Amino acid sequence: MKTAVEIYKLLPKTNCGACGMPTCFGFATKVAAGMASIDACTNLSEAVRRELARDTAGRRESPGTVYEQALMALRPKFAALDLAALAKTFGADVIAPGRIAISFLNARYTITRDRITDDRGTEPLPFISILIYNHLCMPAPPQPSGEWITFSSVPASHAKDKAWAGHVEDVIARHFAGNAEGLRAACEALGGIRAEIKGSHDAAYEFRFFPRYPALLLFYDAVPEENFPAQVKLLLDRNVDRYLDIESIVVLGEEFAGRMTG
Ligand code: SF4
Repeated sequence: MKTAVEIYKLLPKTNCGACGMPTCFGFATKVAAGMASIDACTNLSEAVRRELARDTAGRRESPGTVYEQALMALRPKFAALDLAALAKTFGADVIAPGRIAISFLNARYTITRDRITDDRGTEPLPFISILIYNHLCMPAPPQPSGEWITFSSVPASHAKDKAWAGHVEDVIARHFAGNAEGLRAACEALGGIRAEIKGSHDAAYEFRFFPRYPALLLFYDAVPEENFPAQVKLLLDRNVDRYLDIESIVVLGEEFAGRMTG
């Protein structure tokens, strides 16, 4: 199986950002970890795509990646929980005994004691399952507070500030600079609801990443004549650290940026 460096060597190295990552190397790292599909890069020759698809398909079946190991460690912990009680706490639906469904980034996932599947009945990439399990394993999460905070106000976020700005907010801002209409369409396609909030932004959308996990996106479009680049602020609820650990908050933000721009 290829390492991140070997995958990187086969990528176009244009750092165009179309895959949702700011650099080709960042994308190679995600693919190597099983966190991204090679299909997210739209600039590959057919021969390279085939080669990498073969390699990463084997990777997903292998129990060896860090994410797959984490997933295996999480499953027994999750299996001990009461699914019906979880559904009530986290806003999921009980669809049959031992089977619940939850929306995550505007897609629906079915969860049993030992498996998560998407609406096609297939298992998502391991990091998606980990995000869902991590959320559902959070103890006694309160209701959203209704108060928005920046990422840097989340407890224990200081070492992740750059990743949040560079891999989440800047990715969306660069992609939609000069295209507020495109941003609005992307927000609505991902289940965003237009928010009535006063301010100088050009668009404001509220999301539910999970039913109990709100987020607010503010978009300030570029003003070239004033040398003002496009900016995005992705605000989180004051209680967000009760819905996910800080690592998972960042990974979820990156996945959101990838889906917005993908
Ligand atoms: S889509 Fe991503 S991996 Fe592909 S060329 Fe652009 S930045 Fe590189």
